[in-house]
Amino acid sequence: MAADRLAGSTALITGSTQGIGLAIARAFAARGARIAIHGIATSAQIDSAQAHLRAAGAREVRYFEGDLREPAAIEGLVTAVEAWSAIDILVNNAGIQRTGSLEHLSRATWDEILLINLTAPFETMRRVLPTMAARGYGRIINIASVHGLIASVDKAPYVASKSGLVGLSRVAALEYAGAGSRESGGVTVNCICPGWTDTPLLESQIAKRAAELGSGTPAAMEALLAEKQPTRRMSDPAEIGALAVWLAEPIAHNVTGAAIPIDGGWTAQ
Ligand code: NAD
Repeated sequence: MAADRLAGSTALITGSTQGIGLAIARAFAARGARIAIHGIATSAQIDSAQAHLRAAGAREVRYFEGDLREPAAIEGLVTAVEAWSAIDILVNNAGIQRTGSLEHLSRATWDEILLINLTAPFETMRRVLPTMAARGYGRIINIASVHGLIASVDKAPYVASKSGLVGLSRVAALEYAGAGSRESGGVTVNCICPGWTDTPLLESQIAKRAAELGSGTPAAMEALLAEKQPTRRMSDPAEIGALAVWLAEPIAHNVTGAAIPIDGGWTAQ
């Protein structure tokens, strides 16, 4: 196996201008990877993320734009990154969440969540997997959710998108299982399935719970944790980054088609 496969490799992480995506980008940057960051963000956020990743040790960092609701933008994103550097590691992290009952959710909300959380990974994966297979090494790491494994009320499109992402990843894992070798590292496709993780994605749910309880943010977070996550601890996004890096190592060549929870026991119940 290569001594350090990750140093100098190229990772595209979608939705990496903040939150879990930025933490994953930082974990790969610390290994000396070349980082393609992406997301919908202000130029100040983009500059700050790039500086953060350079300081963490990235060999190179470049920002690529692309609204994942637009099929042409997805194609443009992958083409632009590939023109910069061949993609060794693709992390489909960008995602959105909206809550509401089946009766009250709009079709527009359903379409938007499915486009970003499921259709975009389908489009990015199928564009990069053939070249990964030709090189004998490649990693697809899809950030699903506990909601790819189990359900909660008021999250129909989110649960459908994340369950679909787990299924899509398993199919891709099987189709590319024979690519490469133990020495080259192979081509693997896996999902990480976080439970409650401390990022801006949760702000609206925390605010809603705080309003229901008439409490502040800490009590609302404690209530959300108590309901679902037995450890009663939020995950730090860096913990997701550490698992993503491990999955990218050649030693993980036989871990494929997996959906790995980081959820404080949520899905063990
Ligand atoms: P976040 O809101 O902090 O970040 C989401 C990222 O996706 C941002 O960079 C944003 O720019 C990008 N994005 C959103 N819409 C986009 C679009 N149309 N085009 C391009 N980029 C777009 O959220 P986060 O918590 O860091 O979530 C990252 C992933 O982790 C998501 O897929 C989410 O579903 C998943 N997840 C989060 C949690 C949690 O508790 N935070 C739990 C389970 C799964």
